[in-house]
Amino acid sequence: MHVNLKKISFLFLAIIIALSAVLFFEAINVPARFQQFSKNTIQFQKVGQAAVSMQEASDYLTDESRLFAITGEWSHLENYFTEVETSKRREKALDIIRNVNELGESAKCLELAMEESKKLEALECKSMKLVVAAKGYDKNPAYKIPQAIADIQLSDQELALDFNTKMANAWLILFSQQYFEMKKSISKYRSSAVEEIFKYSIGLNRKNAINLRAAFQKTIAVIVLIVASSFAFFLIVMFLVINSLYSFIDSIKKNQKLKAVHAKELELLRQTYNEMFDIAMEKQNFLQKQAEHDELTGLINRTAFKTILKALKESQETVAFVMIDVDKFKEINDKYGHPAGDKTLKAVAQILKTIFRSTDYAARIGGDEFAVVLSKCSDDMEKTKRMISEKMESLFNKMKEECAKGLPPTTLSCGIAISGNGWTESLVNEADKALYLVKRDGRNGYKFAD
Ligand code: GH3
Ligand code: MG
Repeated sequence: MHVNLKKISFLFLAIIIALSAVLFFEAINVPARFQQFSKNTIQFQKVGQAAVSMQEASDYLTDESRLFAITGEWSHLENYFTEVETSKRREKALDIIRNVNELGESAKCLELAMEESKKLEALECKSMKLVVAAKGYDKNPAYKIPQAIADIQLSDQELALDFNTKMANAWLILFSQQYFEMKKSISKYRSSAVEEIFKYSIGLNRKNAINLRAAFQKTIAVIVLIVASSFAFFLIVMFLVINSLYSFIDSIKKNQKLKAVHAKELELLRQTYNEMFDIAMEKQNFLQKQAEHDELTGLINRTAFKTILKALKESQETVAFVMIDVDKFKEINDKYGHPAGDKTLKAVAQILKTIFRSTDYAARIGGDEFAVVLSKCSDDMEKTKRMISEKMESLFNKMKEECAKGLPPTTLSCGIAISGNGWTESLVNEADKALYLVKRDGRNGYKFAD
């Protein structure tokens, strides 16, 4: 299976871009999440403060009305109404809590607290009315009696009471069982509201913490994926490209064809290289063959033959050397023409190729001179001579057959020398001498050197 490197690269690029986009989105989301977190904290502080403020305002009103009842000092009444009409801490606190939709329950509790506080206010105003009447503030135009006090009508009985009794009644209202019960009730509603606010705030914080943790985990997961993808890409490149290139370098160094690889693009490169390699090898083989072989007969030429003989020098085996010369070849040329002479040489070469083994080397070493070297012959001399004699007979018979088929009448003379100890230069002389003897004795035959 071949992998397309271009496609793989684009795939990994797309994966890394997508993961980076997720990472980027998460990164820009973190400040927003923190902002939400701090907004919630500030809101919780404001709401908590509002609940406290409501209680403080309520207690302040109690204190001022009580001080007024005890001391009769006008400033306490003024303080009281400044809180009720101007500061309005209780109303403001309620507004803050009402603005938070999720704090419906809490707002309800504070509304109930507010209602109780208003009821308490009625008692406090009644108490203050008694003090105002006792002190005669309503008779003195220098004091501007607040509407809420002016609206309260004291009974004739109450009006008839003396200063001390009026004052005593005034503070008795503010220290009555009913008053305490109502204060407790306000406190209870406020506590419920605060509890509710706490619950809401803790829930919100938990939600925020979970969100932040999820965002953090997602970020880590994306980073791990980016690192893993990059590593996977590195491994793939390593395996598909670097390894393949090293395998190519190795093959090129060894002058071999490139081995198959998995990357499609490199596989195309490999195929192209191998095609060029085949062409180059073919050319090289052709040139080598031309350099080593005789053009006319296709046999090994004299130079290549010498190289082979040198190699045989190293071996200790039995080697036989046969020299073959065409008899009166000049005459064949003269009588039948040069092309017929060539044909004769080719026929001799062809016969030599068929009768000798593939481990033997037949060469054309001169114009009408051939030589065959037979390696790995039997150490038994007689056996080797017998084997060569059979080949000589076969050579002469085949030559006769060729002549019968139309080749100019041709005979051959052969001289043979054998060495039991690898190739030696003297084999050439010995074979040459034997050949000379054959020529001398009338040609058309073979002789072993002594
Ligand atoms: P001998 O029996 O004593 O060997 O007599 P010969 O006529 O064969 O004498 P020699 O071996 O000296 O003759 C070789 C001749 O081979 C001389 C040359 O004209 C001829 N010759 C050499 N090369 C070629 C070739 O490539 N083609 C042809 N047709 N003739 C060649
Ligand atoms: Mg000759």
